[in-house]
Amino acid sequence: MEVKASILVIYTGGTIGMIKDPQTGALHPINMDLLYQSIPVLKNFNYKIDTFSFDPLLDSSNMKPDFWIKLAKIIEDNYENYDGFVVLHGTDTMSYTASVLSFMLENLNKPVILTGSQLPLGVVRTDGRDNIINAVEMAAAKDENTPLIPEVCICFENKLFRGNRTNKFNAENFEAFVSGNYPALAKVGVYIRYKNHLILKPNFKKLKVHYNLDSNVAILKLFPGISENIVKSILSIKGLKAVVMETYGSGNAPTEKWFIDTLKAAIDSGIIILNVTQCKSGSVEIGKYETSIDLGKIGVVGGYDITTESAIAKLMFLLGKNISYNEICSQLQISIRGELTNELLKNE
Ligand code: ASP
Repeated sequence: MEVKASILVIYTGGTIGMIKDPQTGALHPINMDLLYQSIPVLKNFNYKIDTFSFDPLLDSSNMKPDFWIKLAKIIEDNYENYDGFVVLHGTDTMSYTASVLSFMLENLNKPVILTGSQLPLGVVRTDGRDNIINAVEMAAAKDENTPLIPEVCICFENKLFRGNRTNKFNAENFEAFVSGNYPALAKVGVYIRYKNHLILKPNFKKLKVHYNLDSNVAILKLFPGISENIVKSILSIKGLKAVVMETYGSGNAPTEKWFIDTLKAAIDSGIIILNVTQCKSGSVEIGKYETSIDLGKIGVVGGYDITTESAIAKLMFLLGKNISYNEICSQLQISIRGELTNELLKNE
């Protein structure tokens, strides 16, 4: 019988690939080479499914740029040999990995679908089985001969999301991810319903992988009562190049003089400050309220509706590109991989 698609399943670690040792009761990793043994029904797809396991496997809380580089390299090395890629990954930092991969993989014309689970594959009620089956089917989906989803996505609990729009919002429900500012790209029921108009279009250019990531970034989350000392300490970290500042609502922050002066001094010294909202949905609109006017005046960059995860990933990617401060600031305000909606551009 003719093989309908070829998929590489890359197992990085995380709960999904675990099984309970009947003797000790402890969780240990499954041998992913035996994927068909764990989910025999996968054979019915008639796809060629190969597996690659990281060694050592990683709880995703230990995720870091070196690892993202390895992952991107595996995808690059195997890009021509497969129709799509499924990355099995711990849920804790899956949104960061999906975001950073979306920036690293320029001209991606094939699906890279991340999935994981809240319960290990080796547990009776596991959500991992369905998540893998859905992810594999989506990674193989084509329209004529062209992959249907040429982007980095997260497939979880019957939904497909653009990866750089997600955050993990639930530590125990099967529905662990949310995409507060962009609708699901597909929903799974009796059929898989793809929302083609929401999915990025292929550009048929050659894949270009960006391996330089600069992690001299920090997150400054505002809270009522945040002290001058704390803000100053963060902004004076040696080597710091950019800060994702999580503000209130539509990008609002204290108007106190010490606060604005501290941010201004950091910006004048070359630190990029990117304003993102603490809300799970909605956009930063600098100047909408009095409490954000000064931020705009001193050069804080508005991140629109980008998530914190995606903002961190985008900054690491842009800082790694060796481009000017001004160029980084302008790239931060436009969508380069579908990671934000710039209302001003939308209205043009
Ligand atoms: N701590 C695990 C991880 O992120 C949880 C999970 O796999 O969902 O790797």
